[in-house]
Amino acid sequence: MNKPPRHVLSKSTFMSGMQCEKKLFLGKYHRNLRDDISAAQQAIFSQGTSVGELACQLFPGGVDCTPESYYDFQKAVVKTQECIDAGETIIYEAAFQFDGVLAAMDMLVKTNDGWRAYEVKSSTSVSDTYRMDGTLQYYVITNSGIPLKDISIVYINNQYVKNGEIDVHQLFTIESIKEAVQERLANIPIDIARFKKLLSDKIEPEIEIGTHCSTPYGCDFKGHCWKHVPKYSVFDIKYAKGIDWKLYNEGYLTTKEIPDDYKLNERHQIQVSGDKTGESIINKKNIRSFLDQLNYPLYHLDFETFGSAVPVYDNSRPYQQLVFQYSLHKQETIDSEYEHFEFLAETNNKDPRPDLIKQMIKDCETNGDILTYNIGFERGKINDLAKQFPEFAEPLHKLIDRLKDLMLPFQQKWYYTPDMQGSYSIKKVLPALVPELNYNELKIQEGNTASNTFAQMAQGNFIGDVTQTRKELLEYCKMDTWAMVKILERLYLV
Ligand code: SF4
Repeated sequence: MNKPPRHVLSKSTFMSGMQCEKKLFLGKYHRNLRDDISAAQQAIFSQGTSVGELACQLFPGGVDCTPESYYDFQKAVVKTQECIDAGETIIYEAAFQFDGVLAAMDMLVKTNDGWRAYEVKSSTSVSDTYRMDGTLQYYVITNSGIPLKDISIVYINNQYVKNGEIDVHQLFTIESIKEAVQERLANIPIDIARFKKLLSDKIEPEIEIGTHCSTPYGCDFKGHCWKHVPKYSVFDIKYAKGIDWKLYNEGYLTTKEIPDDYKLNERHQIQVSGDKTGESIINKKNIRSFLDQLNYPLYHLDFETFGSAVPVYDNSRPYQQLVFQYSLHKQETIDSEYEHFEFLAETNNKDPRPDLIKQMIKDCETNGDILTYNIGFERGKINDLAKQFPEFAEPLHKLIDRLKDLMLPFQQKWYYTPDMQGSYSIKKVLPALVPELNYNELKIQEGNTASNTFAQMAQGNFIGDVTQTRKELLEYCKMDTWAMVKILERLYLV
């Protein structure tokens, strides 16, 4: 087989076009306008790659047709054909090209009754988007002369509980999408022709921003298309439930432009009025009552968790959020100095949960309230630990009985300032109440980074100074509970 000319469309550019024709156009002719890839996105890509590699064990012993260079998939097309001609029955990254459209399939397997195609996803269900991109792959492969008996999505079974070595047959679920593919197949050549014309015309489509900018994927041209939207805009209305797009489509960009008589729900009204007048809400009576009910010694507790597609520890499931770290500030009486306690799991493959539980029970002692910020999270995690380690269930349930929520006064809008921008998350409440305290000096400044960093360490693929990074993780989590301490102190001044 001769090497085919470079493709016009690939599966990913086709899917870009299905999301937004402008995204397809910009991706082809103005790649420089793309937003930078965030560390969180990078972590998702890396996870996808390792899940894909693991899934190959479902059909071991195959030939890998991954091209040496990402820019030379045509070599992979030739190699795939050569493998098929040579009688190979299991091919990874099998690449095909038809009518200028390239599609690579994670696994192509020949069984007694014909070829079967498998696409691997690190998600826990099959979405319409996967059915759509599977349809394009089916179209390209079958038109390249390989009839497919079936085409399936291989995805993560989140009910799998690790027990010893990873069992790939339990970790993955295989679901045929052939029926959905047959239903959509007739539209594929129409869409391909539409996208090819768009690219050959070289005229940028005039497409306004919309919900398609984040569905099904966050578009990486938002920095370009959303330039006219101010940093703080109607899209920052919290818990918007569509009011943001309604306002935008009616011509309002900022909350200050919204007319006073515009119909908003109570929560939105508080945010919008605060932005306009700069006035705060402080309900002293309710705040005082909240403070009066606190029982000392008082503990401020915060967890950090991580989850991974492939579970690291026995007795845990894919994507289960596992506590690997906590910070605890204790104050014996309202006038005492604070004491600090902390736990950070080792990354030696040993399940950290039993040690974490034992130390947390000891550090929290037996009396006094345990304050959290968003009680549902810490309560849920302690409940999980009690289920996973029933030998500790009783003392863990006693901790749950002592939990209280420092978020409550802000969630209930007993204390609201316009600086909170409609939010009651600690990352908005802290700068509004305690502007002199912030995370800016810290290397790790938010929970996702902490989570991804620890996940890399636990999975053994962290690149960096482990000792230094562990210090940074401890500093970050300590800051979370110190922020709670300072917020509470500010409430006492009301
Ligand atoms: S940001 Fe929105 S409008 Fe712009 S290319 Fe992406 S999806 Fe299209």
